[in-house]
Amino acid sequence: MTLPTLPALQRREWLALMTAWGLAGCRSDEPPALAGGWVGASAGRGHRLRELKSGALPMPAVQRRASVLVVGGGVAGLAAARALDRAGLDDAHLLELEDEAGGNARGHRMAGMDCPLGAHYLPVPGEAAGEVRELLADFGLARVEHGRWLWDERHLCHSPQERLFFEGAWHEGLLPPAEPGSETLAQYRCFSALVGQAQREAGFSMPALRTPWTAAHTALESTTFADWLARHRLDDERLRWYLDYCCRDDYGAGATTVSAWAGLHYFASRHGFHAPGDEETEREPMLTWPEGNAWLTRRMAAPLADRLHTGRTVLRVDEGRHAVEVLAWNEAIGQAERWTAERVVLALPVFIAARVMATPPAALHEVAAQARHAPWLVANLHLGAALLERVGAPPAWDSVPYGGTSLGYVDAMHQSMRPHAGPTVLTAYVALPASERAALLADDWRPWAQRVIADLLPLHPDLSQQVRRIDLMRYGHAMRVPLPGTRSSPAHQALSVLPGRVTLAHADLAGYSVFEEAYTLGWQAGQRVAQQLRPSPRHG
Ligand SMILES: Cc1cc2nc3c(=O)[nH]c(=O)nc-3n(C[C@H](O)[C@H](O)[C@H](O)COP(=O)(O)OP(=O)(O)OC[C@H]3O[C@@H](n4cnc5c(N)ncnc54)[C@H](O)[C@@H]3O)c2cc1C
Repeated sequence: MTLPTLPALQRREWLALMTAWGLAGCRSDEPPALAGGWVGASAGRGHRLRELKSGALPMPAVQRRASVLVVGGGVAGLAAARALDRAGLDDAHLLELEDEAGGNARGHRMAGMDCPLGAHYLPVPGEAAGEVRELLADFGLARVEHGRWLWDERHLCHSPQERLFFEGAWHEGLLPPAEPGSETLAQYRCFSALVGQAQREAGFSMPALRTPWTAAHTALESTTFADWLARHRLDDERLRWYLDYCCRDDYGAGATTVSAWAGLHYFASRHGFHAPGDEETEREPMLTWPEGNAWLTRRMAAPLADRLHTGRTVLRVDEGRHAVEVLAWNEAIGQAERWTAERVVLALPVFIAARVMATPPAALHEVAAQARHAPWLVANLHLGAALLERVGAPPAWDSVPYGGTSLGYVDAMHQSMRPHAGPTVLTAYVALPASERAALLADDWRPWAQRVIADLLPLHPDLSQQVRRIDLMRYGHAMRVPLPGTRSSPAHQALSVLPGRVTLAHADLAGYSVFEEAYTLGWQAGQRVAQQLRPSPRHG
């Protein structure tokens, strides 16, 4: 058994880990006592597409028709289906590879407690995200009173929201502390001013498509965020760690990899950046649920009823003059089915869309070849009892260690109203470099479980005694990394308005992945297709 590297572990914490894993003084061949395993995704289904390259396409056993076929049941595909439904198209169908819709925003359950498998929060959407606001209003999460949007407090992240484990103690918020008069504070203020300047001069919005792309954006996108920070002499260790953490958390890659546009967009499109002592230091409220954004995707999927076909891996999309032919593999019965549709919305990552299309447009081919996707690991740890607390800020929804590459964990029971701490599920997130993708596909989950525990042990030395089970979800290609040049490329820009019967919709088209981008792109694609088919809008 390979032990993880534990740079920050104390001797006592090492012993706790060894004991929990049956390693201290035991036979080395003894299996660890911990239960767990891989859950949630079927790598084999996705890889069926790769294997197809050499083999012939299977003969369909079933023939079906639909006016519109949505391929991919993540946020974007579900949004497209919703828009089609709203436009009165009641024979639009959706094909999804996994056994449940939701894509990166699906949920899980351990010991009777809901927890996320991927996406877990949504910042309260601003004016530019009108479609998302309307969705949330439809779900009863928001209402407008006297022209102001009011949010249902039960679904806003309860206080305390975040805490940082810094120099042996918990601190409220995620920004590392900065003493008055320190260089750290001066650099926080300088970065805050630069974000404000970028907001005024270039303009940023969420979703990004609401701001016209200009030469100022292209210039910011021509360099990495780390180079941009260096150019502005922003080299303070705490600031740089925090900004790098934000990039890894939202984009799956750090400041040396993502573009300066992406690094600034994280702040400038939403809440800005506030140094301690600024007038406005409160983080914007965010919506979250024990099962994460699956709370939303399950409600988006429900109205589709039997028009949602899960366990269908789409193998080929062939656009003809009068219709589109779609070949799908029914995973449950091991048979191919052929669908004929007037239009198709391909709500798939760009590299999959390029692979399934019989004749992909040149721009899609180019974007797919340039795009890089970060692998992610999500670990749900079922704890039998509350963990012992260290000094400092009390337990929060999101807990993060300072330094290193760990993204920390969120607590699935944080939103429950229970008055005392107790059993819970902690969801730990690990963004991985592409070089670890192959290892992530290995059968043995245990080294990954050990790695997650090792990451969290410095925060909670008693963690290994309380973990009852670890369920691990792996994403080989979780999210597109906003590299320099991503959005500025002419091929990228061409993808938003493809001629023909196939419309693309996926967060990848934004160049990076968040709910607001996926939903808006999906909704717009659905609306565009509905207009092309010109049905009469549904009233009432
Ligand atoms: C670990 C993780 C944490 C995240 N956390 C957050 C967060 O907290 N907040 C946030 O806003 N965003 C978060 N994100 C980003 C998240 O990706 C987006 O919010 C959003 O869910 C993306 O939706 P999508 O529809 O664009 O893509 P996807 O979720 O990738 O959907 C694509 C769908 O297509 C299906 N599919 C693929 N191939 C085929 C095929 N051949 N045939 C049929 N179906 C196919 C897939 O199974 C999937 O369901 C997170 C992402 C990850 C991976």
